[in-house]
Amino acid sequence: MSLAEAAQAVVAQFEYTDDDVNRGVKEFLRQMDEGLSKDGTSLSQIPTYVTAVPNGTEKGLYMAVDLGGTNFRVCSVKLNGDSTFNITSAKVPVPKELMIAETAEELFAFLALQIKAFLEKHHGDHFEQHIRRRMTMSAPNGFRDENVFRMGFTFSFPVQQMGINKGTLIRWTKGFDIPDAIGKDVCALLQTEIDKLHLPVRVAALVNDTVGTLMAHSYGAPESSGASLGAIFGTGTNGAYLEKLSNIKKTLVGEYDTSTGDMVVNTEWGSFDNQLNVLPVTPWDVALDQQSVNPGLQMYEKRVSGMFLGEILRLAVIDLMKNPDISFFRDDNSGTNDLRSTTDIAETSPIYKAWAVDSTILSIAAGDHTPGLVLLRKGLDDSLQIHAAAYEDARAFQAIAGAIGQRAARLAAVAIAAVVIQTGKLANPDEMIDVGVDGSLVEHYPYFRTMIQEALSKVEGIGSEGAKRIRIGLAEDGSGVGAALIALVAAGMEKHAKNAAAKAAAAVAAASEVSEKVTPAE
Ligand code: ADP
Ligand code: MG
Repeated sequence: MSLAEAAQAVVAQFEYTDDDVNRGVKEFLRQMDEGLSKDGTSLSQIPTYVTAVPNGTEKGLYMAVDLGGTNFRVCSVKLNGDSTFNITSAKVPVPKELMIAETAEELFAFLALQIKAFLEKHHGDHFEQHIRRRMTMSAPNGFRDENVFRMGFTFSFPVQQMGINKGTLIRWTKGFDIPDAIGKDVCALLQTEIDKLHLPVRVAALVNDTVGTLMAHSYGAPESSGASLGAIFGTGTNGAYLEKLSNIKKTLVGEYDTSTGDMVVNTEWGSFDNQLNVLPVTPWDVALDQQSVNPGLQMYEKRVSGMFLGEILRLAVIDLMKNPDISFFRDDNSGTNDLRSTTDIAETSPIYKAWAVDSTILSIAAGDHTPGLVLLRKGLDDSLQIHAAAYEDARAFQAIAGAIGQRAARLAAVAIAAVVIQTGKLANPDEMIDVGVDGSLVEHYPYFRTMIQEALSKVEGIGSEGAKRIRIGLAEDGSGVGAALIALVAAGMEKHAKNAAAKAAAAVAAASEVSEKVTPAE
């Protein structure tokens, strides 16, 4: 067997046909529905208590913070009300020792200090005024309510959300480990530390990054009726969409506004089909799962997102390199290598180390259209320490990487197609369907969106006409603008709740007046 044939045999295992896509979509819809009716399903379908998406006319100054894996970002966002915004932001790395602190207080105190520093630097006037007012006024927490910044808190760890600004930490991921915080309300933890510093800030909303993406894209795409889906294809993958309240059959524990009849649902689709009813399974998918920290979980994500594609590729490439019948990244002598040299792989090459191959190399492979694959060969040299790779070897590598990337994009289309079908918007032939996407994979992998579009056109119920109406656009800054927008929604809900409370109090007062008047006559 030639190298090209052997590579082709690997490529064939990653083929994900139109029929596979259609089977995937049907199963995705089934698992979405199951997730809406009960807890403990593969698609968690978490209700977010956000009951509307913006239309671009929203206005005001809000704060947003984002605790991701590595950095803490603080920003203020001025929404101009015409789909545009101005954003000021600062980013600091979270100190490693705080990721594994003894108490939650240590980490959240650090976060509050960053917020304070940001306010002093960028909103000095506002901040000073508040400090002065606080000293002269006797509002309950020292500030007049209307002068308090409402803040959206993007917290990219699994939480059980109980309300728009309330959610308890289920578990840490991404290298964080502070057992003390598990089961606690992360908004309350942050608010407590903010209050200790007397900052004029209220944690108004707990934000998932996909929900932020959905909101931000709705704000920025005003000519449609809001985005239908916000989706992330970065380190991980996930999506959020607007669902009809009547379709959410499981119990909603928190309070929410019922007037729109909708609620944003965070699908947590990374765990779609953990039971492997329809997901494709190659020997390398099995090997990756077995060596992962969470075997059997996040099975869809393990085939789609940036954290995993490099490792699937590595495992497939290593297998081919071990095949004694072919020479892959190996030369008999310089005569068999078009570079007139022999391929040399450093002992420390990431190709020999689990999880060490970054998915960026897939993008480089997919983007190299040069006749001699000079870009890919430079990439192999620079990032993988595979020196002087022969043309045929680079070509085989490119074919395998391309197959893994294409399967990821077609799997991405499964989730997007299912959500679009679920929203029912395809029924109106004049309506454009906006999908906001974010994440390095979808941003940088060449033609990732084109491959998604191609697969969408093959889905029954969408077809090429339907696919043309699905607009997949890079979303505006979700963790800044999206979080600010959710803070705005939350501030509206506070007002709504206050008005309702005032009305109720007035009704009670009126009732007691009546009874007072009535009593004497009795
Ligand atoms: P996060 O998901 O943490 O918000 P990103 O959206 O930047 O961050 O995604 C990071 C992931 O994207 C990593 O897994 C990385 O390997 C992958 N990635 C970064 N650049 C590229 C690229 N050019 N092509 C493919 N994958 C990439
Ligand atoms: Mg991100």
